[in-house]
Amino acid sequence: MAVEIPYKREMEFEYGRIEQVAPGVRRVIANNPSAFTFHGTGTYILGEGEVAVIDPGPLDPNHIEAIFNGIEGEKVTHVLITHTHMDHSPGYQLMKSRCNAVSYGFGPHGSGKIDDGVKVEEGGDMQFVPDERVSHGDIIDGGNWSVECVYTPGHTSNHVCYQLKEGRVLFTGDHVMGWSTSIVSPPDGDMEAYMNSLELLLKRDDSVYWPTHGPAITEPKDHVTAFIAHRREREEQILKCVDEGVHIISEMVPKMYQGTPEFMYPAAARSVLAAVEYMIKRGVLVSDQDNLIEATLNKN
Ligand SMILES: [Zn+2]
Repeated sequence: MAVEIPYKREMEFEYGRIEQVAPGVRRVIANNPSAFTFHGTGTYILGEGEVAVIDPGPLDPNHIEAIFNGIEGEKVTHVLITHTHMDHSPGYQLMKSRCNAVSYGFGPHGSGKIDDGVKVEEGGDMQFVPDERVSHGDIIDGGNWSVECVYTPGHTSNHVCYQLKEGRVLFTGDHVMGWSTSIVSPPDGDMEAYMNSLELLLKRDDSVYWPTHGPAITEPKDHVTAFIAHRREREEQILKCVDEGVHIISEMVPKMYQGTPEFMYPAAARSVLAAVEYMIKRGVLVSDQDNLIEATLNKN
């Protein structure tokens, strides 16, 4: 039976308007809706008076203006970056000149992969370099709020979730979203890392997730469990394709993603590629060449 993901898509909001969404948490949504960002990037503001901003969003002066307008009289002391995709970190460039906030993140785009000798240049914000690099388990204390850094590579190699200790609220970035599954696109995206980062969340005690895109996830563990099952189901579908004589990723995608609009196929192919890579690593599949996008795949 197909895995049912308990998607959450209902949300009320107005672009550019700061709203309180939980105790000590405000959010403002950037006007950058798309098939990849849902209604747009949600920028979170933690605390009051001296505040942290999580993910300033795209390079959009109107959005940055909306952030500062909404917190007039307050001071941004920290900017926390979940990861360096273009809809998350570039806005920091526009914030810098207006506040003396210190920026935090795992590292520049691709930094989680550089140690493995992998070059990553695709679709990232190559400008962003955090003032402070964070590691898993680090605590950032802002005085009236405190945050734990939860390193969750997979969607990107530098992805970090941040838990607001007050209320155990986890800001999940693009790692776990309610409206959609995450795209895992090699080489920076990595399915093994992504699955491990999902398992990691199951061991935690977060009360609620607030992703960058879409509404809150109020039953975090049910959601993560469904995502893990969904990825396993995708692997089964890949094996079924091979059994039925379909050995190439581009031909698997239309079979595996029935009901998904065709313009999303290239993105879907990236996630299938990530799954295939992981299956080869585990010895489940074999490939006749290194370029897996064009390779003929077979069961081992
Ligand atoms: Zn992203």
